[in-house]
Order: sequence, then structure tokens, then C-alpha cells
Amino acid sequence: MLEIKDLRVTYGTGPSAVPAVRGVDLVLESGRKLGIAGESGCGKSTLALALLRLLPPSAKLTGQVLLDGEDVLTMKWGRLRAVRWAGASIVFQGAMHSLNAVHRIGDQIAEPVLLHRGATPAAARRRTVELLEQVGLPASRADAYPHELSGGQRQRVMIAMALACDPRLIVADEPTTALDVMIQAQILRLIEQLVADQDISLLMISHDLAVLSDTCDRLAVMYAGRIVEEGPAKSVYDAAEHPYGRALSAAFPRIGDLASRRAPRGLPGDPPDPSSLPSGCTFHPRCPVALEECAREDQPLREAGPGRQAACVHVGAPVPAQLSAAPAEPRP
Ligand code: ADP
Ligand code: MG
Repeated sequence: MLEIKDLRVTYGTGPSAVPAVRGVDLVLESGRKLGIAGESGCGKSTLALALLRLLPPSAKLTGQVLLDGEDVLTMKWGRLRAVRWAGASIVFQGAMHSLNAVHRIGDQIAEPVLLHRGATPAAARRRTVELLEQVGLPASRADAYPHELSGGQRQRVMIAMALACDPRLIVADEPTTALDVMIQAQILRLIEQLVADQDISLLMISHDLAVLSDTCDRLAVMYAGRIVEEGPAKSVYDAAEHPYGRALSAAFPRIGDLASRRAPRGLPGDPPDPSSLPSGCTFHPRCPVALEECAREDQPLREAGPGRQAACVHVGAPVPAQLSAAPAEPRP
């Protein structure tokens, strides 16, 4: 239902231009759940915003975003408005910034129903109560202002707004990052349950590979504006083919780690600055298994087993060393 083809986003122009998304191809089938993982700054939010053309005017956008075969990037404004409500909606990380502080939350949930659905005020009110119930909030909360709710409740309101016009796709950009661990789990279960019950496709973005592997069917790993690995969620999480995927999954504690006294490993170095990317494979300066050629040659995605792809020179070849090996080059 969602097909992203060679999507590229560059902020600004000239020498200070920031190529935040550099040629992304992804497919999300109807009713399925795709996770996108990667460190801060790798272009995840830019990708999410690009899908609904919500980027600032300074961003140059090319490629295709096909929603049921229709290209969002070239569609007319009136059609785009309809798609933003009923085709696909976005749940953002910081609900406090996305909600209007001076309006009651019931009115904010009702607004798209009134505007887009052309519902009567009474019908919009009924729909609001129904949506509040779906996200586990009592109807009485409709009269509350955003500051009167907890972080978890505000995120529930964001989800209610996203559901308001029966979207076919929900894009959730770090929907639980700002929440406590316990609340995180509740919100994740809520999202999972709602998309399953209503047959909504889900594109979920997170820096947390563990969260995504738990929730999603397929997983894509993003690095410096590109997808470097993609495949079934469990296999990418348990046995990534790309050294960056392996580092990302080793960065989170797992069951069993405690017993074996293994600490989660970090990845040395920082993600590259998109305005001055390393040559060749952009991961090579941090890669524990980089070869000399990796500094020169960019690696395309290639098949890495059934339904799997990875962009690494070692795909298909035996992995020569463990992640604990020293990086191939000192960091600048
Ligand atoms: P992520 O969500 O993975 O943390 P972002 O998509 O927010 O990554 O950012 C990707 C890159 O684009 C970063 O280098 C960031 O600084 C840059 N960027 C994001 N938004 C803008 C903007 N509005 N103008 C210029 N650069 C931006
Ligand atoms: Mg982000």
C-alpha cells in the first residue's frame, strides 16, 4: 500500500546543504508493520515528514511516495489534504508540542472530524467520545486542557487524533521516546492493538531496535540517510547482516544478558554529519570489520538471504571479525 522510491531530501542549498535522506526505497504492505531504526540524526523524522509533504520550504524533495499507487509528492493540494487525514496520519514524539495548549482536547479531536468528514457538531462529539474510549481515556477527559493530562494520556490523545478519520496508514515517529518505561509499554500495546483491530498499516520509527522488533513485522535500519539493512524484524534484530545493524542491536540489553553478565555494547563514535559525509561506505570510519575498499566504494543494498537485504561488502562472505574488534581507522 505504501511504496517509497528513491526518496531524497536535502535541506538548504550550496556548500551548507544537508542531504538528510539520500535515496530510500521501502515497501509497506497493507495491514503490515514496518519499523525504521537508526541513531539520532540519521534522517528518520525527515523521512516521516516527507511522506506527507510536511517538510519546511527549505527542503528539496525528489522521488516517489506511492500510497495505493498515487504519488503523494505530486498530488494536488486538495487531494493531499484528504490524504493527510484519511489516508495516512502521523503520531509525533512530543505530544505537548503537537497539541494546542489553549483548546480542550475534545475540541482538538473533533476538529478533523468536523472539517474533513463534514460531521455535525453532535456527531463529532459522539465520535470524540468513541475515540477517547478506543485509546483508553474516559469521556470526561474531553473537557481537559493538554497540561492537565500526563505524558502518557497526551500521547493517547495524539493517537485518538490520528485515528479520527479512519486512516489506512499510521506513521508513528518515536511515539514513546518521551515516556517512562512502564507507560511506553502501555502505549506500544495500545498502538499494536488498534492497528490490528482496525487493519491499519503501521510505519513506526524509533532509535530502539528492541521496541521495533517487538512490534513490527519488518525492520529497516537507517544510517546517514540511507537504508543499510532490511528484512523480517526478528532476524534483523537477532542476527543483523550489516555491522551497523549488529552494533545497534548489541546496544540494548536482552534477556539472558544479566545471567551471562554481558553488558550491552555501545558503538564508538558519532553518526556522521550529513553535510560532510565520509567517502565510500558512510559507516566505514566506525566499522569494526571495514576493508580498505570500504573507504572508496559505496555499498549498494544486496540480497542477504530470503527477504533480506544489506549494504555491506561482507554480505555473502564470512564475517571476518567480531564487533569487539577495534575500529579500522582512528576517528578524526
Ligand atoms: P532523526 O529523526 O533520525 O534524528 P532528522 O530527520 O531529524 O533525524 O535529521 C536528519 C538530519 O537533517 C540532521 O542532520 C538534522 O540536523 C538535519 N535537519 C533536520 N531538520 C532540518 C531542518 N528543518 N533544516 C535543516 N536541517 C535539518
Ligand atoms: Mg527524529
